[in-house]
Amino acid sequence: MSLTRPQTLRTLLSAGNELIFQLTTDGGARDDLGSFGWEIAIEREIIWTCKGPTFGQLPGSFRAESYGLLSAALFLDVYFSYYDTPSPDPQPIIKCYIDSMSLIDRVLRNLNRTYVNPSRCLASDYDLESGILFIITNLPIAISFFHVKSHQDDAVPVEALPWIVQMNVHADQLATDYLDNHAKPSSIVPFIPASGARLNINGITINRRFPQQLRLAASGPNICTHLMTRNNWTEPTFRSINWTVPSKALLTLERSTQIFIIKFAHDHLPTRRHMYRIKQAETDKCPACHHIVESAWHIFSCPRRSIWREKLLKTLHDTLSHNRTQPDLTLILLQGIRGALSNPTFQMSAANREPQFVSLVNAQNKIGWQHILKGRFSNRWLQIQQLHIRTDPDIDPTTQSSERWLKQVLNHIWTSLWDVWIIRNADLHGRDNAEQEQKRKEKLRPHVIALYATVDSLLACDKPIFDTPIRDRLKAPSREIATWIRLVTPTVKRALADAKSYLLRTNHRIEPFMTIARPDPLTRDEQVNELRPVSRLD
Ligand SMILES: [Zn+2]
Repeated sequence: MSLTRPQTLRTLLSAGNELIFQLTTDGGARDDLGSFGWEIAIEREIIWTCKGPTFGQLPGSFRAESYGLLSAALFLDVYFSYYDTPSPDPQPIIKCYIDSMSLIDRVLRNLNRTYVNPSRCLASDYDLESGILFIITNLPIAISFFHVKSHQDDAVPVEALPWIVQMNVHADQLATDYLDNHAKPSSIVPFIPASGARLNINGITINRRFPQQLRLAASGPNICTHLMTRNNWTEPTFRSINWTVPSKALLTLERSTQIFIIKFAHDHLPTRRHMYRIKQAETDKCPACHHIVESAWHIFSCPRRSIWREKLLKTLHDTLSHNRTQPDLTLILLQGIRGALSNPTFQMSAANREPQFVSLVNAQNKIGWQHILKGRFSNRWLQIQQLHIRTDPDIDPTTQSSERWLKQVLNHIWTSLWDVWIIRNADLHGRDNAEQEQKRKEKLRPHVIALYATVDSLLACDKPIFDTPIRDRLKAPSREIATWIRLVTPTVKRALADAKSYLLRTNHRIEPFMTIARPDPLTRDEQVNELRPVSRLD
């Protein structure tokens, strides 16, 4: 921090001048590092500057920006209390310029809130929000916030820009300098008293997604064990899978596709096999080919869906080329997906390959190639692609990364899987209204036939339930048939019970009319005699 003239403000305030401060803050983040910078000036005279670290794992730019504002507010607070100027007169004005509109919105929204909101403590970076709000509301002077567009010096020399923009450039330079030369990764965040509480899990301070992080910490080990048992993975195999990118790739999908992929990845799709098992389907056969049991794997490998499979492989090839994929990775991935779609236990030969691809193929063989569709890629894929990005002169490593590459690949695969699920649902439920109606009636038909089959067992007084001939009943719209089944089923059950009890009441059992054949069971000797073969008459 640059504090060359610590007395400046005190002198200016005691002189009774009307003061307007300009404050600009900025933050920067890269991977697991973060930093901030700020500058305070009166007119064109820079009085104080500061730069420093952003604490927290994978802080991100919003947290870095927030740290900048917190630091500047804390400095002013400490300055005013140290020099004992609780309510300066005349009141100075502080105009704060920030290039993050979302930070300004968040501060103003919470400053102007007229009610207490206990759930705020679950918001991301709540520790910084609470610290900023506490200090600002207790400062002896008011701060007003303004937005300034960042990086305006990209096209125009700094000196030619308005003074406020120049100050924003200075703050950006301070933050960048700290990020490049001094920033270190941090797991523990110094406690901010205004936040009231802090969550640490295994030595890491949690700043965002609190419920998810708690759930993961509490049930993560059990889920790991469950996945290893279910998929027959050893712990090294489990650890060789990249679990980070699929969860990010999931967020690039629409909500309905996300739910479908999560169900598919955990074998919870409502396939015909599953619905038949829980007695919610008439058959477990695939609605497209009609003769193979419909498992999740069969949905993608059904003989009737060869056009979809060819399209998936063709468009995936295009996506891989577009995303500058290492050529051998392209070939192996396409071969692996083709193999997994034709054989659920497909294993790829690692022979005649370079060492790095031998280890990739072996690693994915252990995980299973069908798991590629569920997003379970070995870390070797990312390592090889990252090396390719670094060494190929035609690829810009500042805009490309292996994580981004895998995200694009997963987005493509999962979008294609969702497409085939839509096709499958159309096969099952029909494509247009007429076909859907016909499928619904086909489903209801066995229920109607079963109900009509009871007519001979009913008492005469109950038989009028089935006055309408079955042919006419089946001609009605599906909704009408479904309503009739729902209403009539309990009545028929009751009528069957009545008929049975009437039968028992009005008919005598046959046993009393019969004489007992033998008074008591055979003795052992008699049993032996019974079994003895009759001697032949010679
Ligand atoms: Zn099929």
